[in-house]
Amino acid sequence: TTATQYVDRLTATIPDFPTPGILFRDLTPVFADADAFRAIIDELASRFEGRFDAVAGVEARGFLLAAAVAYATHTRLVPIRKAGKLPGEVLREDYGLEYGAAALELRTEQLPAGTRVLILDDVLATGGSCGAAVNLIERAGYEVAGLGLVLELEGLPGRASLSGRDVFSIATAP
Ligand code: IMP
Repeated sequence: TTATQYVDRLTATIPDFPTPGILFRDLTPVFADADAFRAIIDELASRFEGRFDAVAGVEARGFLLAAAVAYATHTRLVPIRKAGKLPGEVLREDYGLEYGAAALELRTEQLPAGTRVLILDDVLATGGSCGAAVNLIERAGYEVAGLGLVLELEGLPGRASLSGRDVFSIATAP
């Protein structure tokens, strides 16, 4: 079974969550299946093999992916967190969400200048979160190696908003 087949088979679709009108894709059944989880981690790691020195996970579900990929590839790990969670000097990016507004933050000076960073998150929807993550990584003086997602929602501007970036999604959903 390939990683894509696992995601296609196990992803749950929940209408009207977290608010009416939103069709929510729930990846927790993918994480809850030991073979599926290993398959998606291996797929993300091999797709970008040799092209990154650090992994950045976007809070919160990106953390689940980033920690595993960093461990599997023996690379550095940094969290991109929701605003107000990180101590010390941080960079902040505000952006709009499908449901609401949000801000993400990254600590400065945790990686050497020019480090090639792979950004990971679970779902690519409008691209707001990934776009903010890209800006944070570059403002911090690092290089974006690419973006890895488990699921990409079609019909939203996510991929187009990240044009020129190496965006890889294990599966897509309408
Ligand atoms: P974007 O910023 O609009 O691309 O939305 C992506 C962010 O919102 C990611 O961090 C996702 O975790 C979350 N998200 C948006 N839509 C969904 C969904 O249908 N299922 C799970 N997470 C979602």
